[in-house]
Amino acid sequence: MKLEVLKYPNKKLKKKSRSVSKVNQVIQDLARDMFETMYLDNGIGLAAPQVGELIRLIILDVALIDPDHPEDHKPDPVALVNPEIEKAEGTIEYEEGCLSCPELIVPVTRSEKVWVNYLDLDGKPSKLTAEGLKAVCIQHEIDHLDGILLVDKMGRLEKDMYRKKRIRVAKDEKALANIL
Ligand SMILES: [Zn+2]
Repeated sequence: MKLEVLKYPNKKLKKKSRSVSKVNQVIQDLARDMFETMYLDNGIGLAAPQVGELIRLIILDVALIDPDHPEDHKPDPVALVNPEIEKAEGTIEYEEGCLSCPELIVPVTRSEKVWVNYLDLDGKPSKLTAEGLKAVCIQHEIDHLDGILLVDKMGRLEKDMYRKKRIRVAKDEKALANIL
C-alpha cells in the first residue's frame, strides 16, 4: 500500500523517533509499504517518520551501478531497525534531495564511509559497511529519526524563504493544521 509522505514543515518531521522494542509483523508490514512508497516516488531512502510513524526504522535502495553497464541497475534493498553508526571515516559532499522537502537540493558534507549496527526485519542484530552515496543516504535517513531535515543544513535566510514557500503551498492544499 502506498503511504502518504509528509512534507516540510509538517511538525511530525521535527520529532525524535523512539526505538523499536520488538520487530514484529507490524514493523515488517510498515517496511514493505515504505518500499512500495519509495519506489513509486523514485526515492533511494525513506525513514518511518516521513510516513508519520515515529519509530526508528529506515529503508534504502541505492542501486549498485556497474560503470560499464549503467543501464542495468542491481537493486539493493535494505531495511534497518534501530540503526546506529558505530564508526565513520572521511568526508564527502553530495547534493541531497528529500521526498519530504519538494524542490530542494542542498549540498551537505557527511562521512564518506560508515559502519552501522542495526536489527534486520527478523529482529537479528546485523552490521553493514557503506561508502559513497549509500553512506550519505544512511546518514540522511538516520537524521530523520532525530528530527533533522535537509532544511536544517541550510543557512537561516534560505531556510526562512523555503519555509514561507512551503507554508504557501500548505495553505493552498488546506494542510495547515499539521504545521508547527
Ligand atoms: Zn529525507
